[in-house]
Amino acid sequence: MSENADRSAPPTPPTGPFLLRCRPGEAILRLDDHLTRGGFEPVRKALAMDPDAVTDEVKRASLRGRGGAGFPAGVKWGFLPKDNPKPRYLVVNADEGEPGTFKDRYFLERDPFPLLEGVIIASYAIRANVSYIYIRGEFVKQIRVVEDAIRQLYDRGFLGRNVLGTGYSLDVYVHPGAGAYVCGEESALLESIEGKPGRPRNRPPFPAQVGLFGCPTIINNVETMACVPLVLRHGADAFLKMGVPGDGGPKIYCVSGHVKRPGLYEAPMGTNLKRIIFEFAGGTLDDRPILGVIPGGSSTPVLTADELDVAMDFNSMRAKGSMLGSAATVVFTEGTCPVAVLLRISRFYAHESCGQCTPCREGTGWLERVVESIEHGNGRPGDCDLLLSAAGQIQGNTICALGDAAAMPVQSFVTKFRADFERHIAEGRCPHAHG
Ligand code: SF4
Repeated sequence: MSENADRSAPPTPPTGPFLLRCRPGEAILRLDDHLTRGGFEPVRKALAMDPDAVTDEVKRASLRGRGGAGFPAGVKWGFLPKDNPKPRYLVVNADEGEPGTFKDRYFLERDPFPLLEGVIIASYAIRANVSYIYIRGEFVKQIRVVEDAIRQLYDRGFLGRNVLGTGYSLDVYVHPGAGAYVCGEESALLESIEGKPGRPRNRPPFPAQVGLFGCPTIINNVETMACVPLVLRHGADAFLKMGVPGDGGPKIYCVSGHVKRPGLYEAPMGTNLKRIIFEFAGGTLDDRPILGVIPGGSSTPVLTADELDVAMDFNSMRAKGSMLGSAATVVFTEGTCPVAVLLRISRFYAHESCGQCTPCREGTGWLERVVESIEHGNGRPGDCDLLLSAAGQIQGNTICALGDAAAMPVQSFVTKFRADFERHIAEGRCPHAHG
């Protein structure tokens, strides 16, 4: 089968559906359509509970944050200080920008109500009366979809004063970003909402103590929010059983690169990576052997072909020396130049550095320039060690995780594909025929 024919084939159905409710080309944008599917039953259930009981249920479900860090959502909600009289805020991070990641866009574009149910439940649980959804600025269509869904909820009493007659009030605002990747970092995102340049803050204090406008704030990812109604609908035990111990629920895996059926696939947290690539995504184009897989977004350490028999959950991926991240799996097959792949990644992080701290501002540019010189035939003996040394001096020495995000791919690519890097240097050219 040709590459194009393979790519136009319908994706293998996910094993859910829990989160991915729309088939290709479908959307659930009218509130009535959502309600006929049982929508907002979890919200009614939550609003009848004590807020702390809702938080406890989410804690017991072991719902770990789907934005990449994997911090348990319920535990995070419990960090809000009990004695602080200031208002509390819930902020949803919808600044989806990690290369390879396109799962949050699904909710923002085609199925916004599960996200908004999660916003109402989480806001109620943390006793917030205002929530912001910070959406990536390039998502013009998606911003309109979410704003329209919010309008429908106000019209029907699911938002505003006295939500569903419970006495609880909640206002939700959409805040568009302005195109900076670093604003997906939670403290930069808060700065951006406050109208300042999106630069990450030094921590402590953490946002749960001093967040938006100096007030206690919880920041959660879109997919995390969309999971919250599932916890209330099915109960913490059932949600936990959908995943692995300590890491509950379903997960949306984004698969792209050299596979026959790139797309979004929903399966239990902890689904084997090989199954995701070969069963869900149909295997590689022309059945070529895999050279490497970036498992969880461009910042996560690359895996080689013999490292793919691993469960895609936070702990298993860490034990394998990589990260689940945002579960953005990018597959590349033999014949691909790993130096060129790393150059693309390094260029991205050098471009997106906010410039606030020296190791990242200077170091990301260094990494890009050295990788570029190797790829273009100007590498020098010792450049591999130079790259590892420079990456090591960035990692752990910056204000936010963008420095680590730039360093980790360099370390893993140079370590795992070192022979290829050395060959570039020895031959003074790229030995691959990619142009
Ligand atoms: Fe800015 Fe990079 Fe420092 Fe983060 S690590 S604050 S992006 S310079």
